[in-house]
Amino acid sequence: MPLFRPLFLKQIGCCGTAQPSRQGFPQRLLTTRLARWERAALCNEELLAVKWRDKQDVYMLSSIHADKTVQIEQATSVIEKPLSVHDYDLLMGGVDFNDQMLAPYLLSRRTRRWYKKVSVYLIQLAIYNSFVLYSEAGRTGSLLKFQEEIIENLLYPGGSVAPTTSVVIRLHERHFPNVVAGTSTQPSPRKRCRVCSRSGIRRDTSYFCPDCPDHPALCLGECFRKYHTQVDQRTNRRKRCSTDVHSERSIALLSEDT
Ligand SMILES: [Zn+2]
Ligand SMILES: [Zn+2]
Repeated sequence: MPLFRPLFLKQIGCCGTAQPSRQGFPQRLLTTRLARWERAALCNEELLAVKWRDKQDVYMLSSIHADKTVQIEQATSVIEKPLSVHDYDLLMGGVDFNDQMLAPYLLSRRTRRWYKKVSVYLIQLAIYNSFVLYSEAGRTGSLLKFQEEIIENLLYPGGSVAPTTSVVIRLHERHFPNVVAGTSTQPSPRKRCRVCSRSGIRRDTSYFCPDCPDHPALCLGECFRKYHTQVDQRTNRRKRCSTDVHSERSIALLSEDT
């Protein structure tokens, strides 16, 4: 309500649905009871407030409409629909539909800073628009899957490494080395270090990681650190670095929010 008047004074007209509980909304409209397809309206020099009963009560505010109606043909009758509601439905249907589609996936509610909300919303709106074009090109799949694929491709460019569950566990959970348990015949066994062997070096170690799914043997120190911080030790050094820069950047972005 407080926004309509300053905008009207700047000759910017507005029309939109309103929360009747908001301060300044005419109480007389709130208490007016309507049957289906009935309307009630109040206006002053700049602003029109309308209550319209469709399946439920709809409240509208407009500074560009007069209290006029349009005739809408139903199956059995003709109804008088307020012009403001009619225009709003006509023009805003697409926006509401977008918002409905995005609502389950919106990340913007996780942050309080408004400019982050707006930026994230605009990015997600752009993703949604691309999804619509993508679907029109005949591709199938859900919006969620489409978003996941975009995130995956940004984090792991080139698609060389799929972010499987074991990769997520390896890089994001807490890991502590342990000594490989001995037997009566082999009291202090040693195994090939996973990282060294991937670099073509044969080196044995008595330590392994009990927290990774397949319990890899790893040299203490550098190899243990590499295994739990680098996405893939098999790719060549250059490629690995660019991937690491991407994941570090995305982790930095995520932690900035918390
Ligand atoms: Zn090693
Ligand atoms: Zn581990």
